[in-house]
Amino acid sequence: MRTKFVAGNWKMYTNAARARDLAGEVAGKLGSEKRVAVAVFPPFPYLPAVAETLRGTVVMLGAQNCYCEKEGAFTGEVSPWMVADAGCQWVIVGHSERRHKFGESDFLINRKLHAALEAGLRVILCLGETREERDKGQTERVLGWQLDCGLVGIEGGLLPHLVLAYEPVWAIGTGLNATPEQAQQAHAFLRSRARSRFGNAADRLIIQYGGSVKPENVASLLHQPDVDGALVGGASLQADLFLAIVRAALPAT
Ligand code: PEP
Repeated sequence: MRTKFVAGNWKMYTNAARARDLAGEVAGKLGSEKRVAVAVFPPFPYLPAVAETLRGTVVMLGAQNCYCEKEGAFTGEVSPWMVADAGCQWVIVGHSERRHKFGESDFLINRKLHAALEAGLRVILCLGETREERDKGQTERVLGWQLDCGLVGIEGGLLPHLVLAYEPVWAIGTGLNATPEQAQQAHAFLRSRARSRFGNAADRLIIQYGGSVKPENVASLLHQPDVDGALVGGASLQADLFLAIVRAALPAT
């Protein structure tokens, strides 16, 4: 009952020509396929060019980050209203690289989420535990905390505008994906936590898995009942790999 959603996070890779080519190849090969939702997240400077390339296609566009204010003296930051103006429908907030490499707090992530929703964007909120936290048996405590803090002040009516991405920090860019069982356990936990807050609306909440997703491991992850898609980093930079992941998310006919 939940349409699977596959998103490609291009991180700080590509250049203008490569970004247009990659988006064009993904969109061209996907054609009018709507049984799976697909979005790409290029670096900020390439958003308008990729928006142009994707116009009239089924592939949606998002930004990898945004700030929590509409405008002002915030040198180097990008407002979610600017992101929307550049042609995006989506933005990622709380990616582990933002949390751990740039010190973003749960408080800031919550403010970004509010601003992005106010700007009319849909939001992928990323959550995930470190290796150390998992080894100490703290995975659910960390996920619960990140979810509760991330969603402070969010009403149930906004849930359709929100996607969660469970991304264990130890699996991102390491080649070490979570096992399907580990992913299912975390996703089921997040859904039940969302249910305790939003009721049955949580049954429609899309929860993506992210962390070293590849064509070889995606099928078993997507087979899990609470895994509703994938947030893909490295493998989204090659159209054939990304499309193989998208195809694995198509419903069985
Ligand atoms: C990501 O950037 O969100 C990610 C999951 O990266 P990778 O697929 O490379 O692990």
